[in-house]
Amino acid sequence: MNKLNPDHLHFIPLGGSEQFGINLNVYAYGEKLLAVDCGLGFADDRFPGVDLLLPDPLFLEENHKKLVGLVITHAHEDHIGAVAFLWLRFKCPIYCSKFTAEVLKKKFEEHNIKKAKIHVIDPMQTAALKPFEVQFVPVSHSVPETMCLFISTKAGTVVHSGDWNLDPTPVVGAPTDKKVFQELGKKGVLAYVGDSTNANVDGRSSSETEVQEGLKNVFLKQKGRILVTAFSSNIGRVHSILKAAKECDRQVAVAGRSLHRMIGVAKSCGYLMDVDDFVSEDDLQYIPHEKSVLLVTGSQGEARAALARIARGQHHFKIGRGDTVIFSARAIPGNELEINHVKNNLIAAGVRVVTPNTTNEMIHTSGHPRREEIADMLQWLNPKIVVPVHGERLMLEAQADLAKETQIKHVIIPTNGAVIDLSAETPGIIDHVHAGLLAVEPKRIMSDDHRALSERRKLQYTGTAHVSLVLNHKGKLLAPPNISTMGLFDEADEDESDFVATLSGEIADFIEALKPVDLSDEDIIAEKVRIAFRNYINGFLGLKPKTTVHVTKV
Ligand SMILES: [Zn+2]
Ligand SMILES: [Zn+2]
Repeated sequence: MNKLNPDHLHFIPLGGSEQFGINLNVYAYGEKLLAVDCGLGFADDRFPGVDLLLPDPLFLEENHKKLVGLVITHAHEDHIGAVAFLWLRFKCPIYCSKFTAEVLKKKFEEHNIKKAKIHVIDPMQTAALKPFEVQFVPVSHSVPETMCLFISTKAGTVVHSGDWNLDPTPVVGAPTDKKVFQELGKKGVLAYVGDSTNANVDGRSSSETEVQEGLKNVFLKQKGRILVTAFSSNIGRVHSILKAAKECDRQVAVAGRSLHRMIGVAKSCGYLMDVDDFVSEDDLQYIPHEKSVLLVTGSQGEARAALARIARGQHHFKIGRGDTVIFSARAIPGNELEINHVKNNLIAAGVRVVTPNTTNEMIHTSGHPRREEIADMLQWLNPKIVVPVHGERLMLEAQADLAKETQIKHVIIPTNGAVIDLSAETPGIIDHVHAGLLAVEPKRIMSDDHRALSERRKLQYTGTAHVSLVLNHKGKLLAPPNISTMGLFDEADEDESDFVATLSGEIADFIEALKPVDLSDEDIIAEKVRIAFRNYINGFLGLKPKTTVHVTKV
């Protein structure tokens, strides 16, 4: 990276731009850096065998001496989930709300990290992280104590929105206070760096209060047991489910580790105190079916979560005909197949499945602003620059178009690693730094260009073929070539096992025909045989498997 002008304020997204999840953002001013959020994402089929992805923090690691702190806007995994994995690489103090701090402490405990210093900042308070001042402005969203950040420097103020919406009646926490934004707008805002998730959805978000009513109406129609699944961190939704259940004279139990953990954190921060408590899962078994609700993890079809296990019949809680499962959540892009798998299992067992798409009742609302809400925000703040973040390209473009319609002077769509000079006369991208992905395995974290991943991608489509050769010192075969394959042949099929035997003969002939000069070098034999072997298989199957040859000379 070229040296940055210390008098200019720069924004450098390292993750979360042009992708969903994996948020990591950096602000640079006066030779110092401020990081905002450090979240994870779910791996897709480009990462065989991998569940989680992290942003590559190399830029922060290389510049950790300049890093004044990491501020976390809220406790969703796409903003907080990578901290415990990566903190040791850039070690800096962390600033967040009380609820977020409690969630983060649990993650650090799991990773056995004891030295991380977490500073709790109360709503509307300002953290002095020189040369930055960061004010924590509470906004409504689908997890408690979500903060929008007013980041002030001598070069101007940036509003880093985090995730937010304008729910007028959230059931946990207060609505987003427009006056705070309007007042800041009057003072002048250099840039708005904002949530693009629903920027291509017209209208406004529905309220959590409507969801509570919708859930009650769906509950009232059921005669058997009800299972509801929602995001574990959506404490507002847990609150709505408890309220709706009480109005229908049903009692609620909880199944699933992440729900138990989040509810525990919420209670320790004073939430869920004004609703009836849960009954234990064991006690629920003795309550009549029409009086019970089970809140379960697994709204994203996660194979190990409670709902998927119940659907497979592999959980001690059994359901069947007459029972109902309600999905009070949307699918995170990429999870649709797994979710359908769970739904199919449930339906096959005679269970009724209710999703936001199959009922007219409001049983889910998004925590992200739709177009009219974004338009309100831009009008209140009237920023000089808009940088859409937090979304795939089509979402970023949608917010960019909206900003241009709202007469915003400068709209900059970032890519991960872009260095954006916000203070220049014509603000724009002036440079790029490294921004990649890391893949999480049970015992290691590897870069997205790790050879294991590119090989696995290839293997899953083409299979493997291996030949072992035992030659004497003159290059004469001492035994027939031994062939083993994976993902190519069915050895029980006579024709196919005959082909493998024929192949062994062809390779033997091929070696016999090699020139003496080639036969003197094991590497040359291996490479020539590998190419010939691959061509034989390609001729038979039309596939080019990963092919290896092992030569032993005795
Ligand atoms: Zn988010
Ligand atoms: Zn969020």
